[in-house]
Amino acid sequence: MKITRNIQRYIDDEKSLEDRFFAVVLMVGVAIVWISMVVTFIEKLSPAANIGPIISAVMLLAVFFVAYGRKKMDIARFMLCYILNCFVIPVSFFSCGGIDSGMPLYMIAGLFLVVPVLKGAKRIVCIIISFLVHTVCIYVSYYFMPGSGIDGEPAWSMVTQLSPQARIIDMISSVILIGLYIVITTMLIMDAYRKERESTEELLMKLDELSSTDELTGLYNRRELFRFLEDVAVKDDERYYLCMLDIDHFKILNDKYGHFFGDIVLKQLAAIMKEEVKDENNEIAARYGGEEFLIILKADRQEEAYRRIDRIRDSFTRVVWEKDPDLLTSFSAGIVRCSRFGSTSEAISHADKLLYTSKENGRNRISL
Ligand code: GH3
Ligand code: MG
Ligand code: MG
Repeated sequence: MKITRNIQRYIDDEKSLEDRFFAVVLMVGVAIVWISMVVTFIEKLSPAANIGPIISAVMLLAVFFVAYGRKKMDIARFMLCYILNCFVIPVSFFSCGGIDSGMPLYMIAGLFLVVPVLKGAKRIVCIIISFLVHTVCIYVSYYFMPGSGIDGEPAWSMVTQLSPQARIIDMISSVILIGLYIVITTMLIMDAYRKERESTEELLMKLDELSSTDELTGLYNRRELFRFLEDVAVKDDERYYLCMLDIDHFKILNDKYGHFFGDIVLKQLAAIMKEEVKDENNEIAARYGGEEFLIILKADRQEEAYRRIDRIRDSFTRVVWEKDPDLLTSFSAGIVRCSRFGSTSEAISHADKLLYTSKENGRNRISL
């Protein structure tokens, strides 16, 4: 039960792609061994022919135990690849019909398994060794065994001979099994890769959003504001205006109604700003600091820029607050035309000066 739970955990999304491949490969391997045993039984081969599948079953059990009982994944991967390619496949090759059977297909499958299970140099070394072992097996089976059957020699052979009927059953079952193994493994690998890519993309999008927005108001943050100012040729475009605004007497409001209510006010103003300033028009509204905001908007004339900001100001003063319906909230602002300044920082500092002019002149107003 504990082992089953461990396997489930390894297949679960939180595990690495390699661990999931490994779990899948192991499970498909187990299925193949069981089917092979059944096929060998149907083929009515000598008991020796069962050696391969039985050894495979024992080996897979050992790998399972090391991987999910002992949680030594690296050793388990290593065991799986080497025992299978250098021991199980050679023994099965000699005991299940050699080159005249489906065994060469199992050799290919054994090599194919190394690719997703091992990494880097270990993978290359294992593939080379497995290749050597497999080719030596084929070579030995025909040329170095006494009585290999060539040139009328006696029929004694180290390789178990299959009857023509058994051979065809073996070939068909091997083609189907190994074909299925390669198809299923590739499908699962591609699927895991796609899932991994999708979740990475999702994560990146989330990170991008988190790094560019202000958590409280959902407006863009300073970082994104400056990125926008760099990317969009704001100071070269005559139509861009920069507006800096600051909520009036926000400290009093905070002190009187509480910080939480202050946050509600900030969010409400942000919502009003979002109504007026839209991304799709290549404009931006950002939270510059505590209760200070910056808007970069496009307008053909100064009056239009003023009118749009005034619309925000007007809406903000009209909000009826549940906590105190008589409370009047307002902000003061300063607007400058971006193209009149050499840099955005100059434009910002000038807008800031105009903002303080608005404050000095009695607040709840916009200076140009
Ligand atoms: P003025 O009209 O001159 O702008 O006065 P003010 O009180 O708005 O300005 P001041 O800079 O003195 O106070 C700003 C206050 O905004 C102080 C700070 O505690 C509060 N503040 C800053 N960030 C937040 C926030 O995220 N939430 C809340 N609730 N308050 C904040
Ligand atoms: Mg302030
Ligand atoms: Mg203020």
